Amino acid sequence: MQTVGRFAPSPSGRMHLGNVLCALLAWLSARHQNGAFLLRIEDLDAMRCPRSYADLIMDDLRWLGLDWDGEVPYQSERSEIYEKYENILREKGLLYPCFCSRAALHAASAPHLSDGRVLYAGTCRGLSPEEITEKRKKRAPATRVRVPDEEISFTDGVFGEYRENLAEECGDFIVRRSDGVFAYQLAVTVDDGLSGVTEVVRGSDLISSTPRQIWLYRLFGFEPPHFIHIPLLCDVDGRRLSKRDEDLDLGLLRERFSPEQVIGALAFAAGLTESAAPVSVHDDPDRPFQPRTFLFAAKAAPGYATAKRIIQLL
Ligand code: GLU
Repeated sequence: MQTVGRFAPSPSGRMHLGNVLCALLAWLSARHQNGAFLLRIEDLDAMRCPRSYADLIMDDLRWLGLDWDGEVPYQSERSEIYEKYENILREKGLLYPCFCSRAALHAASAPHLSDGRVLYAGTCRGLSPEEITEKRKKRAPATRVRVPDEEISFTDGVFGEYRENLAEECGDFIVRRSDGVFAYQLAVTVDDGLSGVTEVVRGSDLISSTPRQIWLYRLFGFEPPHFIHIPLLCDVDGRRLSKRDEDLDLGLLRERFSPEQVIGALAFAAGLTESAAPVSVHDDPDRPFQPRTFLFAAKAAPGYATAKRIIQLL
């Protein structure tokens, strides 16, 4: 079976080094298996994701030498497809409207888990048709999917065995927001499933989303891909990079460095190469890049590199 990898950025800002590392590893892993590599623009929240950022991401990827196959889908244009899959869940009797406000969901009385996440208490799970009609007059509901009281597990390429009981650690989750926008969990599963993605390389901040996505994969009848969650690049003070860290965004880096310098530093920091010497992603296909080496290194030392260290390498 051919490997199909992908990079699925949300264009809410310019790419930073962490996004580049993710794109680089996803690309290397797929291309080294002679696989296809897809790009998808995750602009569900169209207000926060202007087209100009999507254009810049594509321009930055080309500048780095990371190419992709086929057309680039924009999630903001795929609502009809997501609706079809929402209906599959509805026909299974798994959806219900939720009228809880954000404040109510995060209230002190709501069950909070040790990692800070809030467990949905099931407040709207058993509303009667009359109650729903009444509540609809006052407020547009979000849509939640019921989750099973069973452990969902997968073997992550970096973190190994990962398991979660959705009923105990997450609760029924939102597949469509009250403003009609589809939730990331539903859109990402439909898109990866429909495009035959076999390998997902992405930041470890999304590892806890994966059991929810596996639940949706099952309901939609798709085969889940192999998941590889890479530890996030941190800032000097241990904070994860964000798109607000403008000094690390590609706009500035492009003014100061060549693509080969950026790739060389990232590849070295990720344990892929012996030195941080400038290198192109197309150089010497047999040697420099061994994504698996990185994956083992990252597993052994989470928090493996700070962005500052990488900048110093440049
Ligand atoms: N769109 C998400 C982001 O940019 C990534 C989603 C994914 O890779 O599954 O953070």
